[in-house]
Amino acid sequence: MNFNDITDMLRDPDSEAWLLKKADETRREYCGEDIHVRGIIEFSNICKKNCLYCGLRAKNSEVRRYRLTEEEIVAAAEAAASMDIRTVVLQSGEDDYFTVDKLASIVRAVKKAGVAVTLSAGEKTREEYAALKAAGADRYLLRFETSDPDLFAMLKPDSSFENRFNCLKWLKELGFQVGSGIMVGLPGQSYETIARDLLLFRDLDLDMIGVGPFIPHPDTPLGPTPRGNIDLTLKVVALTRLLTLNAHIPATTAMGTIDRLGRQKALQCGANVIMPNVGPLKYRKDYSIYPDKICVNDSAEHCSGCVSRLIESLGRKRAKGFGHSLKKS
Ligand code: SF4
Repeated sequence: MNFNDITDMLRDPDSEAWLLKKADETRREYCGEDIHVRGIIEFSNICKKNCLYCGLRAKNSEVRRYRLTEEEIVAAAEAAASMDIRTVVLQSGEDDYFTVDKLASIVRAVKKAGVAVTLSAGEKTREEYAALKAAGADRYLLRFETSDPDLFAMLKPDSSFENRFNCLKWLKELGFQVGSGIMVGLPGQSYETIARDLLLFRDLDLDMIGVGPFIPHPDTPLGPTPRGNIDLTLKVVALTRLLTLNAHIPATTAMGTIDRLGRQKALQCGANVIMPNVGPLKYRKDYSIYPDKICVNDSAEHCSGCVSRLIESLGRKRAKGFGHSLKKS
């Protein structure tokens, strides 16, 4: 598939049914019927940056800020392991309180729960990533959000486009399973932008790719901007599957937020991962990158049971084991 094929399919409403079916067949062929369950622990909503779209941006004074202790993080990971969740995703804003030494200590302690560890804690130096790998971290998520340098500079005024891609390169060199992703429906994003995002997913040979709709947060400068739509986001998920074949692709919580059946729809057009929140209930509402997030009032046990029922309802299987990258097996 080349650039023009992709833009044609994104533009043509009649391509949707074929595309979604083809992506589901490709997922079946390259990933099987397993759906991997990853438990997210949002361990700090404090962030020094000011991404225009994000409710956690430093300048948003409406957020009640929190940090989990190492003990709280480990307890959440142990509870996830007891529910047969074999990967935890430790996610935070860019919070300098969590030095690399603190993060490495947390990774070592969490690994003792018998889970794989994915980190999603922003941009760091190559040496810091190396220390986290040495501590036992298996995977790292760092979305580039858009392949358009001008749009990136507008959305992430205190990040460098070049450094973001350097980080992804270092993570790969250090042996992490690497995830990235984008938002669909960003202001100023065109079909051509999305086609370049998709080709970059393929060229970066990513292990994991997250695609979610843009959902404006009212307490950010992009508050009045229209949200992304589910149909285009599903087409992007489907094209991601067709271009990358065996990458792990989550049915993102953001898809379930803009459409009650959004996650189920994503799992039927290429996605093979679902990521319930397993962090402490009392902080869930405060991790509001975007508003009206689903499941913020549901306990980890409830969410684990809910995703099991969702998986069964699709006639699929809940995967056993760590669910490492299919690119390395
Ligand atoms: S997107 Fe990440 S880096 Fe940007 S403000 Fe939000 S939490 Fe911070």
